[in-house]
Amino acid sequence: MAERLARLGIVRVLDLLLHVPLRYQDRTRVTRIGEASIGDEVVIEGVVEHTAVVARRRRALLCRVADGTGSVMLRFFHFNAGQRDALHRGRRLRCIGELRSLGGALEMIHPELQFELPDPASAPRLTPVYPATEGLHQLALRRLVNAALQRAAEGELQELLPTALRARLEPADIGTALEDLHGPQPDTRTDLDTMPARRRLAFEELLAHSLSMVTLRAQARAQAAPALVDGGVYKTRFLEQLPFALTGAQQRVAAEVAADLASGRPMMRLVQGDVGSGKTVVAALAVLAAVEADYQAALMAPTELLAEQHYNNFRGWFDPLGVDVAWVSGKSTTAERRAAREAVQSGVAMLAVGTHALFQSDVQFARLGLVIIDEQHRFGVHQRLALREKGVSHDLRPHQLVMTATPIPRTLAMTAYADLDSSSIDELPPGRAPVKTAVLSQERRDEIVQRIRSACQAGRQAYWVCPLIEESDLLEAQAAEQTTELLRDALAGLEVGLVHGRLRANEKEGVMARFKAGEIDVLVATTVVEVGVDVPNASLMIVENAERLGLAQLHQLRGRVGRGAAESSCLLVYKPPLSDTARARLQTMRDSNDGFFIAEKDLQMRGPGELLGTRQTGQLTFRVADLRSDADLVGAVRDGADLIQAQYPELIEPLLNRWIAQREDYGNA
Ligand code: ADP
Ligand code: MG
Repeated sequence: MAERLARLGIVRVLDLLLHVPLRYQDRTRVTRIGEASIGDEVVIEGVVEHTAVVARRRRALLCRVADGTGSVMLRFFHFNAGQRDALHRGRRLRCIGELRSLGGALEMIHPELQFELPDPASAPRLTPVYPATEGLHQLALRRLVNAALQRAAEGELQELLPTALRARLEPADIGTALEDLHGPQPDTRTDLDTMPARRRLAFEELLAHSLSMVTLRAQARAQAAPALVDGGVYKTRFLEQLPFALTGAQQRVAAEVAADLASGRPMMRLVQGDVGSGKTVVAALAVLAAVEADYQAALMAPTELLAEQHYNNFRGWFDPLGVDVAWVSGKSTTAERRAAREAVQSGVAMLAVGTHALFQSDVQFARLGLVIIDEQHRFGVHQRLALREKGVSHDLRPHQLVMTATPIPRTLAMTAYADLDSSSIDELPPGRAPVKTAVLSQERRDEIVQRIRSACQAGRQAYWVCPLIEESDLLEAQAAEQTTELLRDALAGLEVGLVHGRLRANEKEGVMARFKAGEIDVLVATTVVEVGVDVPNASLMIVENAERLGLAQLHQLRGRVGRGAAESSCLLVYKPPLSDTARARLQTMRDSNDGFFIAEKDLQMRGPGELLGTRQTGQLTFRVADLRSDADLVGAVRDGADLIQAQYPELIEPLLNRWIAQREDYGNA
C-alpha cells in the first residue's frame, strides 16, 4: 500500500490531506428506480428482496433490490461469503453505480454499496474523485483520506497561519478548507479553479514557497563576495567608443548592478528587458567593473551560436581596451580548447564566453568574480546556485547577473525568481519603429515571396524561419533545405542562405557572418535564430508554421527584426485550418508588441512550465496551487511572507515542512 501511495506522491499522512481531487460526484441525491434512466450513474436506496449465488457460465452473486417504484438486479462476479451474507433479505442499503438494462430488466454490475445511510440531520457532502493508481482505487483512497481528516480534526494538524492573516482568508482555518476540499457541500462552488477551499490551501502553499525563496536568498546574502568597486577607467573608454548613448533605462539598471557589485555581498540580480532593449551593453559594463577590480568574468549563453555572437561582439568592444576574451566552445579543436583553458586559468583572459560547457568542463578560473547568464529562462534555481558554488575561491562567491529576454510576468517572477533581485530595462533604444505583424495562410506564398523581394530590393534582409515540426533535426534540416531550394527558384538574383542545427559550428558561423555582412539577403533557418541573434539591417521576419509555436517564442523571433531604423514586418504564416487556441495566439501577436503583455497571455494560455522551459517545470509544480488560476494571490502572498518574516519567524520552519517536499534541496543549496 505504501508503495502504491508513493506512486501518487503520498508519503506522509499530510500528503493524503493535500491529495487534491480531480472532480466531485454528486451522490447526495437518491434516484427512484422507477425514474432512473439507463446509462446514468445513480444512487438508489432500497431493500434487499432476494439474494442468490448462481453458476451458469460464470459464478455470480445476484441480489434484487427494490424501492417501491421498481427493482434493480445487482450482479457481482467477485465476492466472498461475508459480502453475500451482508445482502440478506430485508437489508436497507444504497447502491451507487451505472444503471444498465439486460433483457428489459435493470441491473448494476459491481455497484458500490453503503449500508450505513447518511444521517439525514448532517449536511450532505459531494464525493471526491481522486487521481488514482493501479491497485489503489477510489474507495480505498476515500477511506484513507477520511481517516486522515479524522486525525487532523482530532488536533494532529496544526493551524500555522497567524490570526492576522487568517482573518483575510475564506475559509479561515485549514481544517475547514481540507474538509471542503475533500467533500464540498452540494450547491457550492466546486469548480476547482475557483473553489474557495482550494484557493485557501493554494495561498498557504504559495506562502510557504515564497518563504523558502526568501530564506534561500537570506542565506545567499549572508555570504561574502569580492567588492568590485568600479574606478570607471575602462567604463569611460568603453562608453566613448560606443556608437550610441545609453538609454535612461540602461543607465539606471547599470547603476543598480554597479551598486550590487561593490557591496561585498554576492549579487543575485535578474535583468529583464524586452528583445532589443540592449541588455548586452549592461552586461559589458558589469564585466568591466570586475576587470577594473582585477577579477575575471564568465558569460554563459544557452547555445553555441549565441555564445559565439557574444564572443565576437565582446572582442569588438574589448580588444581596443586591451581586455582579453576567451571562447570556451564544445566544438573547437583540442588545441584551441587548451589555449582557451590556459588563458582562463592563468588569468590572462579576463572574460570567458561559452555555453554551460564553461562550467561542466575542466576550466578553472584564476579569480572569478562575476558570472553572467544570458537568456536565463533555461536554467533553474538550483543550477544558478550550483554555478555560484563552482566559482568559490577564498570563501568568496562570485556575483551573478542573470539576463532574460523572455519578459517574465510579475506573478512568475515573484515565485520562480524570488531568490533574485530584479531590474528591468523598460525602454527601447530611440528610433525603433514597432514591428508590423500580419497573420496569413501559407496558401498566400506568392504574396510572401513578393514581400521578400521588395524588402531586399530596398537593401534590407529577411529571415525565413522553419520551426521544428518534426521530431528529428534531420527531418527538420531536410524541410529547411527544401524551402531554401524553393526560395532560390522564386527569388532569382537574391542570395538565399541556410542555417540549421545539423551544420557544424564553423559552417553556421560562416553563414551567420555572411548574413551579418549583408552578403546573404534571405536567411532560412530552423529555430536557431530564436534567441539573441542581432542583425539590425534585417527588416522582415517570416515564421512558417507559426500556429505551432508559443507566444514567448513568437515574440522572440519577431524581436530579431525592428532593431534598425527601417520599418520592419513580421509575417506569421500558418497552415490552415487554425484551431481556436492557435487563432487566439496569433491574434495576440498581431495586436501587441509588448513583451510583458504577451508573457502574461502566454502564462494564461499555457501555464508556467512552457514559459520557463522544461527544466524549470519541476520546480514550479505545486500540490494545490496553479499559477494560472492563482496568479492573483501572489500580491497577498508577498505581504503574508513579509508579515511572517517580521513577526512570526518561528512559523517558517513548520510551513516549509508542511509544503515543500524536497526540503533538502533548499537547505543544501
Ligand atoms: P537584447 O536586450 O535583446 O540582448 P542587444 O543587447 O542585443 O539586445 O541589443 C540590441 C541592439 O541594440 C544591438 O544592435 C545593440 O548594439 C543596440 N543597442 C543597444 N543599446 C543601444 C542604445 N542605447 N542605442 C542604440 N542602440 C543600442
Ligand atoms: Mg541578448
